[in-house]
Amino acid sequence: MGSILCEHCTGACCRYVAVPIDKPRTARDYDDIRWYVMHESILVFVEEGDWYIQFGSKCENLGPDSLCMVYEKRPEICREYEPEGCDYSVGCHGHDLYFTHASQVEKYYEERTGKRLGAPKAPRKRPKKKPVRVGVTGEKARA
Ligand code: SF4
Ligand code: SF4
Repeated sequence: MGSILCEHCTGACCRYVAVPIDKPRTARDYDDIRWYVMHESILVFVEEGDWYIQFGSKCENLGPDSLCMVYEKRPEICREYEPEGCDYSVGCHGHDLYFTHASQVEKYYEERTGKRLGAPKAPRKRPKKKPVRVGVTGEKARA
């Protein structure tokens, strides 16, 4: 922070934590992402080919004036963040992909694979038991 642009912003970049995740490859991976975004304040986005999960949560150091209260000793990641291309200047338009709802993940997966996520599975057949004959003495005989 610290630029003129930041003076007009309410600290958009200080209101979440984003962590890289593995690029989804299997139906289960996509289903997990679908589950992530079913939760409040959780979204998944892709930037320059890398996948991230984002947890919406305000930093405790963001002051009521939307300025950093620990500016001189703010973490390295905050120092590296530049207003150019930031959340305030480009927002989610800077992302390649942006998922905030399960339906978006389902649609994306279906478009890519032609398959549906979350479709109920057919019930598993129970294996038939082999009949056991019992002899007159009560001992089990071979079927
Ligand atoms: S989102 Fe951009 S403009 Fe807003 S505080 Fe962060 S760097 Fe500054
Ligand atoms: S430490 Fe300061 S700059 Fe970093 S996220 Fe918190 S309020 Fe923002």
